[in-house]
Amino acid sequence: MNISRSFLLKQNQKNYDMASIFSLIIRGDIPSYKVAEDDNFYAFLDINPVAKGHTLVIPKKEIDYIFDMPDAELGAFNIFAKKVALALQKAVPCKRIGECVMGLEVPHAHIHLIPMTNEKDMDFRKEKLKFTPEEMKEIADSIASNFI
Ligand code: AMP
Repeated sequence: MNISRSFLLKQNQKNYDMASIFSLIIRGDIPSYKVAEDDNFYAFLDINPVAKGHTLVIPKKEIDYIFDMPDAELGAFNIFAKKVALALQKAVPCKRIGECVMGLEVPHAHIHLIPMTNEKDMDFRKEKLKFTPEEMKEIADSIASNFI
């Protein structure tokens, strides 16, 4: 899988009125490096990682702003993210997993989970890391195998 950023952005614009790019991922219309899934939530590797194992967690129900989620859904969303974080911490050596919600680029609520050894690992301004498709798959599979 080799998806360029411009392709993804074009896809996002083309489908903007119908579904967010993340909904297309959930539907399988766009490939992703899946890490975990249940009936309501989906986790996959960020394609422009700031750290090895950088994972996005999203609700399957499309909602733009995380704090518009009803309390029960937001609670379940965070509990799912915690389970992903525990698996991520086992798969990728780090001090802890950082969590971040920004959500200005894709109008579909998402939590960034980022393995951290120091605070710079959470810096979104630095140059993104590059992994081959094989490496991305290996990272995703390793996290998935630790997901309980
Ligand atoms: P933000 O909305 O600012 O939190 O950023 C959206 C994040 O989604 C960025 O880190 C992108 O790299 C990531 N992203 C966008 N499209 C994809 C995709 N198709 N697969 C994986 N990650 C993506």
